[in-house]
Parts: sequence; C-alpha cells; structure tokens
Amino acid sequence: MGYFPQSSSLSDMKSIFVENSDENNEESAVCSYESWLENHPNALENFEEILSIANKGKEIVLFLDYDGTLSPIVEDPDQAHISDAMRTAVREVAFHFPTAIISGRQRNKVYEFVKLRNVYYAGSHGMDISTPLGSSNNQNQKHQTKVIDENGNQFVNFLPAKEYLSTIQEDVGVLKEIVESIMKAYPDFQISGGRKVMEIRPKINWDKGRALLYLLDTLGFDNFNHVLPIYIGDDKTDEDAFKVIVEKGEGFPIIVSSVAKETMASFSLRDPSHVMTFLIRLAKWKRNYSSFITKTKQS
Ligand SMILES: [Mg+2]
Repeated sequence: MGYFPQSSSLSDMKSIFVENSDENNEESAVCSYESWLENHPNALENFEEILSIANKGKEIVLFLDYDGTLSPIVEDPDQAHISDAMRTAVREVAFHFPTAIISGRQRNKVYEFVKLRNVYYAGSHGMDISTPLGSSNNQNQKHQTKVIDENGNQFVNFLPAKEYLSTIQEDVGVLKEIVESIMKAYPDFQISGGRKVMEIRPKINWDKGRALLYLLDTLGFDNFNHVLPIYIGDDKTDEDAFKVIVEKGEGFPIIVSSVAKETMASFSLRDPSHVMTFLIRLAKWKRNYSSFITKTKQS
C-alpha cells in the first residue's frame, strides 16, 4: 500500500489558495506552502515510511517526468539539459529498479538529453514508447513495431497514436496563434494544457497514466499486489499518472513543486535537486539492502 491524502485535503487546499492568493505577500506564500506540505509531505523527510512498505517485498518501479523533474525549467526547451550528476543518479537508480522516463517531449529528444541505455523512454505523453527487444509481456501487439537503431540495437516501439504524430510534431508556435479556428477543422484533436503551452492531442483515450499501466504490463507487473510504482513529476499532465496510482491504492505519486498547487500526489519534492537526492538515497538503500540479504543467506 502507499500513502494517500484524505479526500478532504483538496478542498482544504483550495481554501488555502484563496486565503493566500497575493503573490507579493511572501509571508502568506510561505505559510501556504507549509500548510500544503501537511497534505503533501516532503518525500525525503518521509523516506523511511516509503522504505518500510518497500521492505515488505514489493518491487519498486520508478517513473520519472523529464522537464522540471530531471532538468530545470528553462526559457529555451532545447537548453533543458540534464546535469552530469543527475544523469549519474538516474543511471544508478535504474541499475537497481526498472526505470522509465515519461515526457511530453518527443521520445528521441529525451534520449538525446539523457543518453542512458538502461532506461525505458516514453515520449509524447506516453504515446511513443520504446522498450528493449524481449522485454515486452504485453499481449496486445497492436501499434508495436520492432526497430534497429544506428548501433544495431533492437527495440520495440509502441505508438498508439502513430497516425497522428506527424501532426503533433508541426510548429506549435504557429498552431498556437490560430489554434482556436484551426481546431474546428480537426474534430479528432483536442486542446489540453501543460506548463506554459497549449497542447494539441488526438482524441484518443491515452495519457501518462495509461503509459504507466502499459509499461508496468510490459515489465511483467500487471498485478499491483507485487509492485510499488513511484511516479515523480511536476506538470499537469503527470496528474493522469498520479490518479492511476491513487486509484490502485499502491505506490507513491510524488509531485515536484516549490509552491502550493492542487494535485493528486501524496508526497512532494521541492525541486530537481531534491529529486536527485531522492534517487541517490533510493539506490543507496537498495545497495545496502541487497548486501544485507546476501550476507544473511551466507551466514
Ligand atoms: Mg514536467
């Protein structure tokens, strides 16, 4: 099981926002964040609670957003580089736990930043997923294609919105200017919001939450009784994945935010530096835990 806020917490939080809506009032803003933390406690300060559940034999599977989670939010999206220290932390944690990065970006763009081979990648909000060949347990072969990269490595690509991707990849800046009128001509698409963007998405029943379920199934964790998914993200689109974990009642949805905001996440981390510390501690715990198990078996 995981930790989930009481159902009243969201309405409580709305009242907090109303009372502290003056962004220039630093004192009230701090109070707001501190009040918010009562319902969304810092995951680092509650690390032992998370481990106490993981220690009960559940398999941790890690899901990470990219922008604002592994990289800082920057004005130019092409400059949202992951630091070497963060890359090392992700590589280390992925060595111990199945790890996937689910981003709104194109999958190949995320890989160009991260450059780690031991990580699963899901781009375009989970509509473009790549997994190593042979890892798929998913019996639904629809939309799956075997591919070979320039280095001869084989992968399975999963593209549930393949016929829409060329449209998704058009110049978003141009689309934003005329989006309201042009959308009338594309009844198969809808507008959804992200961080400072207006997103055009096909009207298909697919989002980061469904990508999370697909990846769990692909990894062989279709039974939530044996798995402890941890999802870390900062954006509105990550809420779909938080919702899946909350509804399953297993795992830890963790939001990255330095301000109070409405969310279904049960824990929080203040910024990407906190995310990195969390990943490092998670990998260190697993190293020590595995070492302890090995010594116990030998004695
Ligand atoms: Mg993000």
